[in-house]
Amino acid sequence: MTVRGRFAPSPTGPLHLGSLVAAVGSWLSARSAGGEWLVRMEDLDGPRVVPGAADEILRALERYGLVWDGDVVVQSERTGLYEEALARLRVAGLAYDCGCTRAEVARAAGAPDVSDPVDGAGAVYAGTCRGGLAPGRAARAVRFRVPDGTIVFEDRVRGRIEEEVSRSVGDFVVRRADGPFAYQLAVVVDDAEQGVTEVVRGGDLLSSTARQIALQRSLGLPTPAYAHLPLVLGSDGKKLGKRDGALPLERLDEKRVRETLALALRLLGQEAIEGTAPEMLSAAARAFDAGRIPAGPLSL
Ligand code: GLU
Repeated sequence: MTVRGRFAPSPTGPLHLGSLVAAVGSWLSARSAGGEWLVRMEDLDGPRVVPGAADEILRALERYGLVWDGDVVVQSERTGLYEEALARLRVAGLAYDCGCTRAEVARAAGAPDVSDPVDGAGAVYAGTCRGGLAPGRAARAVRFRVPDGTIVFEDRVRGRIEEEVSRSVGDFVVRRADGPFAYQLAVVVDDAEQGVTEVVRGGDLLSSTARQIALQRSLGLPTPAYAHLPLVLGSDGKKLGKRDGALPLERLDEKRVRETLALALRLLGQEAIEGTAPEMLSAAARAFDAGRIPAGPLSL
């Protein structure tokens, strides 16, 4: 089976050091196996999308020598596929309307309203609307009825991971009331539809993987192999902010491209040779050793 990897940036700003590490890591993993590497723009989160950012990310990938296969897939052009998947979940009784506000979700869980950066879900959902909407309540979201049981998977970098999604998250949002599909559903549909065999991505998404596997199983879709790369932290030990890690195109002269690429390769535990960006990448692909990717967070 041909290996097929992908890089799935959200066009919310210029390429960032954290996302460059994800791009290089997924590129190396796929290319070192003689596989294909796809790029998908995850632009469903309308308010966060920055005009021109998608194009800027693609131009930056080109400067780094990260060549992709085929056309770039854009999520906002594929909502029909997500509609269809959601309809299948509904027919199977695995999706239902929820009328709860965020505050109600948090109150029912007895937890503070912590906002989840990935899909806006806060505390563990108590299942309030599982049996149907209360009379007079309007639907605010569609939730996935999470099957009971523990999801177990082997992450190539992090090792064995176990998560009981019904306890850690509860029934989660797959579509918001104002229309947009949630990242969790779209990513699962797209990875399967694009024939992705391995997902190599930032460590911040490790906590989403069990939810995605639960959705794959309910939709009868295959589960790709997973590798979650180390988080890149600033020298202060905090997650790289958008600004500190930003790699705007106008600053990407030849020398800086080589330096930043060498940094990304070293963060991934791989060697960086002297040369042009494409030369550095081909050498790193030839010598690629996934076993040298560190699992822990990395400080710059
Ligand atoms: N679009 C997501 C992000 O930029 C990544 C999704 C993925 O790789 O699964 O954080």
